[in-house]
Amino acid sequence: LLRLRGVHKRFDDRTVLDSIDLDVAAHQVVCLIGGSGSGKSTLLRCVDLLVEVDDGTIHLGATELTDPALDQRLARRRIGVVFQAYNLFPHLSVLDNVALAPRRVLGRSRDQAESEAMALLTRLGLADKARDYPDRLSGGQQQRAAIARSLATEPEVLLFDEITSALDPELVGEVLDVVADLKDRGFTILMATHEMDFARHAADQVCFLDNGVIRERGEPDQILTEPREAATQRFLARLL
Ligand code: ATP
Ligand code: MG
Repeated sequence: LLRLRGVHKRFDDRTVLDSIDLDVAAHQVVCLIGGSGSGKSTLLRCVDLLVEVDDGTIHLGATELTDPALDQRLARRRIGVVFQAYNLFPHLSVLDNVALAPRRVLGRSRDQAESEAMALLTRLGLADKARDYPDRLSGGQQQRAAIARSLATEPEVLLFDEITSALDPELVGEVLDVVADLKDRGFTILMATHEMDFARHAADQVCFLDNGVIRERGEPDQILTEPREAATQRFLARLL
């Protein structure tokens, strides 16, 4: 569903992504792991069209996202994104946060957008928070609301960038449970994460990024338990 070929990104004269080839099949969860500065966020931003690639191609289905003639607005509707923090508009209620894009982007009526938003929030256990402003929610609740918002435009692929790393440890589980539930419901997810236990259980494929290069990739058990590359071994050893 998502296909990257030879993706290169430089910032100034520094190579941040170097010949990245990556495939995410429909209904798969692919986890990107790697140290700080290895290029995980940049890779996700290239897919989300927030960062322009210098070389290579990215396809979502039959659409080339890297085509200069692409209608970016149209393409971005097909991609749902959640970042580490500050995803929600603080001046809008949780319900309005979720209903905004369907109204603006999909042209839904207010009533329809709100009832669909309410259904999403209910599914994520946030029905009673719908009328609150984001600052009244816990970090975990805010991230679940952000996930609800990313789902509201019915995207084909979800990009999650360390969505639990700003959370207190006791709140991480509730957000990862939502991601596991999305996987069970057949969503296609590419996510950067430091949660190795989660990657082990939920990922179909784990990719280890090191200095902008995918050094090693494969089934989570193989990568996380018996990494072949010295760089992967060093990275995992530091986490213990
Ligand atoms: P972390 O785990 O800390 O989030 P990361 O793997 O997400 O790290 P990136 O944020 O993708 O890493 O950064 C990769 C490299 O690109 C870093 O060296 C960073 O300083 C650099 N970089 C990222 N964005 C920019 C930018 N807009 N301008 C210049 N350099 C950038
Ligand atoms: Mg990052």
